[in-house]
Amino acid sequence: MEEKRDFGDLEREVIEKGKCALCGGCVATCRLLDYRYLSVDFSEERPVIKEGQQCPPDCGYCYYQCPRVEKPELRAGLEEMYEVASTDEEIRKACQDGGAVTSLLAYALDEAIVEGCITVADKGEWKPEVQVARDKAGLIKSAGSRYTPAATLTGIADAILDYDLQSVALVGTPCGLSSYEKMFVVGKDTHNAHNFSSHIKLRIGLFCMGTYSYEKLIKEYLEREHGVNIKEVTKLQISEDVLHVYTGDKELLSVGIDEIVDYKRDGCKVCEDFAGLFSDISVGNNGTPEGKSSVIVRTDFGKKVFEGALERGYIEAKPIDKSGADLIHRLMKAKKEAGIAEKERRMKKQK
Ligand code: SF4
Ligand code: SF4
Ligand code: SF4
Repeated sequence: MEEKRDFGDLEREVIEKGKCALCGGCVATCRLLDYRYLSVDFSEERPVIKEGQQCPPDCGYCYYQCPRVEKPELRAGLEEMYEVASTDEEIRKACQDGGAVTSLLAYALDEAIVEGCITVADKGEWKPEVQVARDKAGLIKSAGSRYTPAATLTGIADAILDYDLQSVALVGTPCGLSSYEKMFVVGKDTHNAHNFSSHIKLRIGLFCMGTYSYEKLIKEYLEREHGVNIKEVTKLQISEDVLHVYTGDKELLSVGIDEIVDYKRDGCKVCEDFAGLFSDISVGNNGTPEGKSSVIVRTDFGKKVFEGALERGYIEAKPIDKSGADLIHRLMKAKKEAGIAEKERRMKKQK
């Protein structure tokens, strides 16, 4: 019989090997979740167990659900691509691109498809904070990209244990969505102490080329090296390989992402999913003009939500241009190849 693995194995095989995506899936799945036994240490950017404590024998929920131990299997789905804009002026103003995510969630809340939405808001000074948004004002708080890790799946436990929600939308980067897929498939009836897998109704994935260490990118690079007052920053945006930093309409800084590559999280360098393959709907800004969102409908349920939001006038949409679809496919391929190459490079280095 194969020996049962536990958090110590997760540490050795994933966290200390620089593979952790900081998705928060292990924390949400921990058997001792009610005691907040496993949590994310954001200063170290890694999951940690309570100091001096021992895991119960024969546990290992965290290990078996981690998507970096074993990837979930991709289920066959759709790939319908659209150029989308919110029809809500307040949402469009607050959002980075077309406001598609916020408007789709607003529709899902208004129609009682979900009771709450797990999103990432700003805790202040561009520190990401997982929140459970229950209304449009809460959704608007999470508008815009942050580019630092949030451990989004910890929000599942908050939504269910703190708010007692039965139907929830999860918005996250592709790693978070693949972690949830593991929770859903592997965790169901076996490894998931709270069986959270039945509570997530809608999964929205965000296009992602990588996240950066908060301490290194925000504090060290932007604040100390470039003298940016982070409290004044109103928007961070990476587009076409350039990081733009704004206060209102004024651009404070723009740098090629090559310059910040050293601040990228190690766990992101082995990541192969750009476009959120494990979502019902994935959304990003690549492939469409400024002020619009690229939306990929991936499941029948995603299509139902998308078409409902369209019919009820929350969004407007048209099929994406061929050039936009080609760009998204190129980025998907490039990220997959880069992730595989980095894994191979690390394996060779170990030999
Ligand atoms: S990748 Fe996710 S599940 Fe795996 S160790 Fe990191 S935070 Fe936990
Ligand atoms: S899931 Fe089990 S093995 Fe993992 S940290 Fe929690 S108690 Fe320990
Ligand atoms: S690059 Fe991958 S691991 Fe990193 S945040 Fe994006 S989806 Fe997650």
